[in-house]
This record gives sequence, structure tokens and C-alpha cells, in this order.
Amino acid sequence: MAPNTVQNGLIVSINYTLKLDDGEVVDESADEPLVYLHGADNIIPGLEQALTGLAVGDKKSVTISPDDGYGEYEDDAVEAIPRAAFPADVELEEGLVLAVRDDSGQVYEAIVAEFDDNEVVLDFNHPLAGENLHFEVEVVAVREATPEELDHGHPHLEGHDDPDEYDD
Ligand code: ZN
Repeated sequence: MAPNTVQNGLIVSINYTLKLDDGEVVDESADEPLVYLHGADNIIPGLEQALTGLAVGDKKSVTISPDDGYGEYEDDAVEAIPRAAFPADVELEEGLVLAVRDDSGQVYEAIVAEFDDNEVVLDFNHPLAGENLHFEVEVVAVREATPEELDHGHPHLEGHDDPDEYDD
């Protein structure tokens, strides 16, 4: 029988709206549902837990604390870097998201918090770190994952063998 509830190893489609404490909508599924592999860390842990066991058509409101969301905001994750470390042709602006490679080759995303001629302050916290996340979610569809999807740990969407938003 085809699966009807959200369980590990299934490809799940959800519609969602994400609001912060002040009611600001910071993210939502717009024209198409978000499709992800349940139980594979494709989405934040708190949302995955809230969805487990829901049936197709179910709706749920859930509030997720930073610990189960994007983590607490850490002052240590803000670093000042000499302006000279950046290529001269990079046009810096506050809020710009940069991919930064550390000495071991690991790539991190950072947001330009502020800068002047001498230094650039980079914030490595997730933009939603420290926020309570208020989700309205609706389960739109569930299906079995293919062996390849399970192997890769993410869904393969129609017309996209390997979507760019995932790493491999
Ligand atoms: Zn893949």
C-alpha cells in the first residue's frame, strides 16, 4: 500500500509559512511545495519532529525554539577580517552573503555585518539563529523514496536529476 503518513525514508511535500515572533513572514513555499526526504536532515530537526506521523492533508502550527531550529545566536561567530583579505573587485555591502573558505577548504556562508576601508566584519550565524520559528505546515503528499534518493539523502525532482540546492 502507498504510504499516507510522514515517516523516515519517505519523500514528503509540504506547504509552509514561516513567521518570527513579531509576525514577520521570512519564508514560505510559494508556487510549489517544498519536497524533502524525511529523516535525512534535509530540514531543521524541530520541523521534522513536528511532521512525523502526520497524514496527507493534515495541517499543523508549530513553534520551534532556536535549539531545534537554526541554533542560538553566537557572538563568537562574528569575526573581523582585514579588508585586504578580500579581492579588490568585491563590492561589499551590508547584508551581502559571501561564501568563505577556511584553511581546511571547508566553505561557510557569512553575512557582511559592517565594513570600512580597514576591515570587514563577517557574521557566520545563520540569518535565523536565535529566532523562535513559527511554522504553519500542511502535508501535501508523501511517496516512497527511490533507492537512489535514499542513497543520496535527498529527493530527485521531476525534470531535475540532482537539484542544485543539494550538494551532490
Ligand atoms: Zn542526488
